[in-house]
Amino acid sequence: MKAETIAVGTELLIGQIANTNAKHISKKLNEHGISVYYHSVVGDNKERIKGLLDIAVERSELIVFTGGLGPTEDDLTKETICEYFDIGLYLDQDILDMIESYFVNRNIPMVKSNKKQAYLPEGCVVLYNRYGTAPGFYLDIMGVRIVVLPGPPAEMEPMFDDFLKHHLIKDKTIYSRFVNIFGIGESTVEEKILDIIHQNSAVTLATYASYGQVVIRVTTMAKDEVSAGAEMKYILEALHKRFGPFIFSDEEETTLPVILVKMLSDKNIKLAAAESCTGGMISKLITDCAGASECFLGGVIAYSNQIKTDILGVMPKTLEENGAVSEKTCLEMAAGIKRLTGADIGVAVTGIAGPGGGSDDKPVGTVYISICSGAGKVKAYSFTGSRDKIRNMAALYALDMVRREFLS
Ligand code: ATP
Ligand code: MG
Repeated sequence: MKAETIAVGTELLIGQIANTNAKHISKKLNEHGISVYYHSVVGDNKERIKGLLDIAVERSELIVFTGGLGPTEDDLTKETICEYFDIGLYLDQDILDMIESYFVNRNIPMVKSNKKQAYLPEGCVVLYNRYGTAPGFYLDIMGVRIVVLPGPPAEMEPMFDDFLKHHLIKDKTIYSRFVNIFGIGESTVEEKILDIIHQNSAVTLATYASYGQVVIRVTTMAKDEVSAGAEMKYILEALHKRFGPFIFSDEEETTLPVILVKMLSDKNIKLAAAESCTGGMISKLITDCAGASECFLGGVIAYSNQIKTDILGVMPKTLEENGAVSEKTCLEMAAGIKRLTGADIGVAVTGIAGPGGGSDDKPVGTVYISICSGAGKVKAYSFTGSRDKIRNMAALYALDMVRREFLS
């Protein structure tokens, strides 16, 4: 389905306000696999609105208008659309009652021009406005669905979301699944699925990066849920074959910490963290998730060598011989936090986040991550980027290492 937005309002053209309505609409439509090809802005002018309609009805199946539904003279979107399609307006008594009670409830007098908002195009579907007086509506005409919503974002946004949920996606023509991947860059992911992207089938795939992970949105248009399910199953299987354990969830768009917390809680596994360079970020990522108390016991920020030895029980000899940023220290940190807390699994991170502190041997970005559930495991990473990025990546990779330990 091809869609476009048309924002009506001279204040947009003179730079008084930015067209945030288009942003909201586009974002939501794209999330549901509907491509938005054009954004237009037009002044409060009948002829120019009609000129745009000439173009839009030719190239789009969904046109979303915002603005110009108010009671004043310059609000003329509805009238112009009706003139364009030669549709009459009728007085909707329910809407008039609602507008009247809106004013009564707020104890403000209703001016006569407000009645104008109760006139709606013949044959339209009314979209109720819970946040203001102007109702929206949509019309299916000439193979195009034309949606008309008021301009103020506080009214338009919830109305558009309702429309999407109840009038566009409702007839179950569009189904989406979100394949969440961690540990591979977006361009690599895209390269690996180019053949599926270019397959001319009913399924569309789009990738985007978010929170250090990559999401593939798989959207299919089908006449019913059964045939949508079959299409979807085929694609999801292909993706699982290609990305294997890099996929951490394939239902909704989600995050690695959320999935890890759920996984550990379901399996009744308790986790504790020993953090050096991440300074508590692992603990934060986990405790950001509701329900973290089901699986997370706590952590120690072992930034200094003294805390590493005194609290976590890292051997001074280990530090002397290998340094704080080393495989061995990391393994002992993970074993130490497990012992200290009685957790089923300990995770530990030690590394050089920069910008200083690197050496030829261990440049900035060198990070060791270890887990200890039975025998300890440790992995070395070379992250790049800012201090913040290196620390973030280290924390996320630590969570991923824990997740992979319990893949069954
Ligand atoms: P009202 O009843 O408030 O007049 P309306 O549907 O007639 O509503 P407009 O008069 O076009 O809408 O715009 C009202 C206000 O809504 C604008 O002053 C602006 O603050 C906001 N607005 C309108 N269009 C947009 C847009 N495209 N993006 C962001 N804000 C907008
Ligand atoms: Mg207005």
